[in-house]
Amino acid sequence: MVCKVISSDLILQAQDKAKIGQLPDYIPWLSQADPNGLAIAFISLDNQLESHGNIEQIFPLMSVIKPFVLLYLLEQLGEELVFKKVGQNPSNLPFNSLDQLEIDNGFPRNPMINSGAITLASLLMGENGFNRCEKLRFWLNKQAGCQLFLSETILNSVRSLPNFRNQAIVEKLTAKGYLENPELALDTYNHICCLSGTIIDLVRLGLLLVKGSDLILAKHCQIVREIMTTCGLYEASADFAQKVGLPTKSGVSGAVLTLIPEQGAIACYSPPLDAQGNSVAGLWLVEHIASLIC
Ligand code: GLU
Repeated sequence: MVCKVISSDLILQAQDKAKIGQLPDYIPWLSQADPNGLAIAFISLDNQLESHGNIEQIFPLMSVIKPFVLLYLLEQLGEELVFKKVGQNPSNLPFNSLDQLEIDNGFPRNPMINSGAITLASLLMGENGFNRCEKLRFWLNKQAGCQLFLSETILNSVRSLPNFRNQAIVEKLTAKGYLENPELALDTYNHICCLSGTIIDLVRLGLLLVKGSDLILAKHCQIVREIMTTCGLYEASADFAQKVGLPTKSGVSGAVLTLIPEQGAIACYSPPLDAQGNSVAGLWLVEHIASLIC
């Protein structure tokens, strides 16, 4: 069981590993995060929860929201429509790569990179970014029993610096006919990336994808788990899938969510990132724990 392997010694080792990572500089709130702040939680199929470290720390999900947008839209719109708008293949280029879009003639390769997630954000229903994000948030909180909220502070921080990469992605998607309202798509995407909570909220979200629910098609959870395995860690996905093989999604806030089939979910938060934008300590912890329990 996971609970036997998470010790205070393991957390100290992870904090040490985090020292080689860097905080992202393009979102001020993230660049001011405490590099030593670390939290980890495990939840079992029967809802037993274990957590360590800064469990009160609030952080934005950033890209960890992407699998949940996919799940929500699969439920709302169905598989056929969703995968007309976004592909399901891995990318070995960075999460905000424009080259990837060039190679694919403007078609977003998968929902775990920014082009795919912005396209999916454009399919959410509601008259503005806030309303669309609220609908997703209510649904997730209800399905997963968590308490995500929209952090206006973090959203203002995201908006305080121009994100030329995401703007260029949106322009390209629009030029190729994949987006009708680029401003709304990007605004919705920024809102959903700022959905925030604690490590407990994150691990509860993870359990939803492992266990499913009576109200969600099991096949939809399975599709999301598969795409997390092949695409969840940007260009590090293939390497991690070979080494660890567990559905995992990371975000630039330092959040990492890993699903352990038939056992439960692990969530980690540690802000320093590696060169691919994944939490150094988060990936180290998941890899270490997986080697002991899987
Ligand atoms: N909002 C972030 C961005 O678009 C999310 C990226 C991430 O978490 O990987 O840059």
